[in-house]
Amino acid sequence: MSVNYNMPVLFLAHGSPLNAILDNEFTRSLKRLRGRLPRPRAILVVSAHWLTSGTYVTGNKKPRTIHDFYGFPRELYEIDYPCPGAPAVAEMIIKTVKSPDIEISEEWGLDHASWLVLKHLYPEADIPVLELSLDAGKPPRYHYELGKELEPLRQEGVLIIGSGNIVHNLSLANFERMDATPYSWAFEFDTQVREHLVNRNHQALVDYNLMGRAATLSIPTTEHYLPLLYAAAAQDPNDETVFTYEGIQNGSISMRCIFFG
Ligand code: ZN
Repeated sequence: MSVNYNMPVLFLAHGSPLNAILDNEFTRSLKRLRGRLPRPRAILVVSAHWLTSGTYVTGNKKPRTIHDFYGFPRELYEIDYPCPGAPAVAEMIIKTVKSPDIEISEEWGLDHASWLVLKHLYPEADIPVLELSLDAGKPPRYHYELGKELEPLRQEGVLIIGSGNIVHNLSLANFERMDATPYSWAFEFDTQVREHLVNRNHQALVDYNLMGRAATLSIPTTEHYLPLLYAAAAQDPNDETVFTYEGIQNGSISMRCIFFG
């Protein structure tokens, strides 16, 4: 099935699992974002929470809701996001990507990088969803190049969402207060990334480690940053870049969300 529109690409923050059940400025921005989007044929989420050796895409007909966090209120563990999967789209993704080899997995399902944002964006859970894993052993350049190879999926009606956080330092986070004053380095790095996105300086995003101390503190581990590289790479030269939400939660978690379309 081919459709006559070019789907946008999104990078969405998710932050604390509590955002799944909160009504705050971030979650309200996700609800508003829906108005900008044509209805997708399927959604492909590049997840900060599915780390693998090799790259995988979910092929389940009915992906299970995975509650991959500990110590949160019971209400969060009772959330089910009963969307369908899309095995045929998984096959299409494998054919679209020339290198590297992507394999289909039925071991995984949807972790909270997917369902936390989709619960606000598409609460009806009636659009098929797939996840793409992050090959934990690969450098940033690999993830950026793979993101470029996903771009043709946009013409097939697939909404690509990178789900992570540009700044994600849990060891320095203030879990008592979501509205804690942001660390200066968190604000600095988030602003630098914003500038590079506006200027389409993707090389600087790939070489984030050259951005100094603010980058080191903002990205203690890469998994929440890498989904940004997929979304930026799947951008088309004619796309506008719109920041649909900006802000920092818990002092050290950037909630910046981006629409490319
Ligand atoms: Zn996360």
